[in-house]
Amino acid sequence: MEKVSTRLASLAPSATIAMNQKSRDLKAQGKDVINLSVGEPDFNTPDHIKQAAKDAIDNNFSFYPPVAGYPELKEAICEKFRRENNLDYKPDQTIVSTGAKHSIANVILSLVDKGDEVIIPAPYWVSYADQVKIAEGKNVIISGAFDNNYKVTPDQIDAAITPKTKAILLCSPSNPTGAVYTKPEMEAIAQVLKKHEHVYIISDEIYEHINFIGEHVSIANFDYLKDRTVVVNGVSKAYAMTGWRIGYIGAPQWITNACIKLQGQTTTGATTIAQKAAYAALTGDQHCVQEMKVAFERRKNLVVDRLKEIPGIKGNNPQGAFYVFPDVSAYFGKSVNGQQINTSTDLCMYLLEDALIATVPGDAFGDPHGIRISFATSDKNLDEAMSRMKKAIARIQ
Ligand code: PMP
Ligand code: GLU
Repeated sequence: MEKVSTRLASLAPSATIAMNQKSRDLKAQGKDVINLSVGEPDFNTPDHIKQAAKDAIDNNFSFYPPVAGYPELKEAICEKFRRENNLDYKPDQTIVSTGAKHSIANVILSLVDKGDEVIIPAPYWVSYADQVKIAEGKNVIISGAFDNNYKVTPDQIDAAITPKTKAILLCSPSNPTGAVYTKPEMEAIAQVLKKHEHVYIISDEIYEHINFIGEHVSIANFDYLKDRTVVVNGVSKAYAMTGWRIGYIGAPQWITNACIKLQGQTTTGATTIAQKAAYAALTGDQHCVQEMKVAFERRKNLVVDRLKEIPGIKGNNPQGAFYVFPDVSAYFGKSVNGQQINTSTDLCMYLLEDALIATVPGDAFGDPHGIRISFATSDKNLDEAMSRMKKAIARIQ
């Protein structure tokens, strides 16, 4: 009998990955799809990073790595935390994993027991809630209001905390909204968490460098929280290295030890060649990071401006990352091609089939009113996609 475990049966497939695959399939059929679904930089990995990987192959870095990562990479990660975040971590407080997605999964599986509550501010990145489900934890979703740039308030966090709360997942700059918590906003949240000593903080900072309002603030910067905070980061977004699959954390050592134990029984550690490339990324010339940020900001402005031309769509103005998350609910209950649009999924499917634009429905991010548009693609693609979107949406009556 073909029967997957109950754990797997209750798991939703990743909506970002699913839409990306749909878009690839349509392209393979010769359709001119513009893919605004998956969030990954369209830039190539910078040459000096690629060269380090080629050297690693030539120098026979083909043997199992230490489970936690090469010592020099862990040193480079500590140096990065010092240089960019003013955070002091020892190498034993870091572990390199197969992408930040894997880092987060390791941390959740290391901390969360069956029935433990994990607070997740919505709209949230698709994988958080399902990773908590894998750990048999309970998701407690609190929603950031559109008018507050989709940010949650300290009072909302305070009200959501119970004796069963194990952790809170924070993501700034946010996927899918681009919201960035300023220093005073982060401090107000830190003050609430200070009172609740049993709560761990998982701070996903993968978009730290794609920030349009200036300074990035890590919640681990508030000393009184550092002992129960895990900072998650990686090279995917900052260095256009999504396919290399390298993520890492800075955390209390007992948490990295737990992750090492888990990783030793699952992946054995991240790919050697990719670790060497990540070392070059973190220690090499950082200009590429800034150049890509400038391009993302220009593209953000393009999409935000073009969305304003579409009646009924309430666009937000992202402060970071590479996503816009407009409220499209004004179109729910209306029809096109004889079919009713009732959900954000209906609208995304219509945009994909009719206008050949791939986006991701907000339902997957815990907010049924929105859709996520990734602007990590060329200005030309974005321009064409927004023209198609305007035309397609105008046909909905
Ligand atoms: N966190 C967030 C918020 C993300 O958007 C992503 C990218 N999908 C990740 C973590 C994981 O990144 P990666 O596994 O590529 O390092
Ligand atoms: N950050 C990307 C996204 O949200 C990557 C896809 C994924 O890892 O889920 O689209």
